[in-house]
Amino acid sequence: MFDTLSDRLTSALQTLSRKGRLSDADIDATAREIRIALLEADVALPVVKEFIARIKERAKGAEVSQALNPAQQVIKIVNEELVGILGGETRRLNLAKNPPSVIMLAGLQGAGKTTLAGKLAMWLKKQGHAPMLVACDLQRPNAVTQLQVVGERAGVTTFAPEPGNGVGDPVDVARRAIEEAKHAQHDIVVVDTAGRLGVDEELMKQAADIRDAVSPDEILFVVDAMIGQDAVTTAEAFRDGVGFTGVVLTKLDGDARGGAALSVREVTGQPILFASNGEKLEDFDTFHPDRMASRILG
Ligand code: GDP
Repeated sequence: MFDTLSDRLTSALQTLSRKGRLSDADIDATAREIRIALLEADVALPVVKEFIARIKERAKGAEVSQALNPAQQVIKIVNEELVGILGGETRRLNLAKNPPSVIMLAGLQGAGKTTLAGKLAMWLKKQGHAPMLVACDLQRPNAVTQLQVVGERAGVTTFAPEPGNGVGDPVDVARRAIEEAKHAQHDIVVVDTAGRLGVDEELMKQAADIRDAVSPDEILFVVDAMIGQDAVTTAEAFRDGVGFTGVVLTKLDGDARGGAALSVREVTGQPILFASNGEKLEDFDTFHPDRMASRILG
């Protein structure tokens, strides 16, 4: 997904390594190239501006180092700032002292929430947990069945409303699921919620009602990295409408530019916890800012 960005940044920085000493003009020229590379990769403008300002300030003020030549020093600064944008340290999942922990998933329809629920359940199971999936997306006709299918593939229980009882109330389903989880000794409950094609108030209210009913330990905003700048506006809408404690990037295997998704951390202040990079349940891992930065810098 970040091949072009990676190529552009590498070439911007390579020009520097041919120089013994760096003037302010060299740093400005490189900063300009990095700026273009980030904007072309769809990284949000305020994030780019802040990033470039920090790079320039640090590169111009850098002490002469014995260990690194000036070009290496700039590369190190770019790497550190990129890791910073992506969240710094890897953030672990927040779990409750008294199980069951509740993890609620929110995001637009098609973002990959249901698939993610299965991936997360399988990952949690591998970590020694006994997760349960909860179907609170009662809007989309096939959503419940789809969650049951991924649950089965992941080898975990899925709690769903009984068929034939009409559309049902997702808040009620969520509450009953927590009781069931306590009873059946599931230590983590993953609640899948409804997503619409665009942000709308009814969706936000429903998600907020579920949140209030089950007090989640984590609310994960699931965002498709391929939707460009909409990733940032959608994140802002969910932050204001429901609030979230972490981000999951999906479809990082796609060939779109993806930079907008990388801006979500910086724009919303919430960390990226996981990344999804394929349709299979195994295509999923914790998000490591340092590894992602290294991948982008090539
Ligand atoms: P939901 O509406 O948010 O529940 O989204 P779904 O889980 O139904 O996913 C929508 C589509 O995206 C499905 O076709 C998934 O197979 C696909 N999908 C989900 N995650 C990924 C991913 O990481 N990579 C790719 N390539 N496809 C994905």
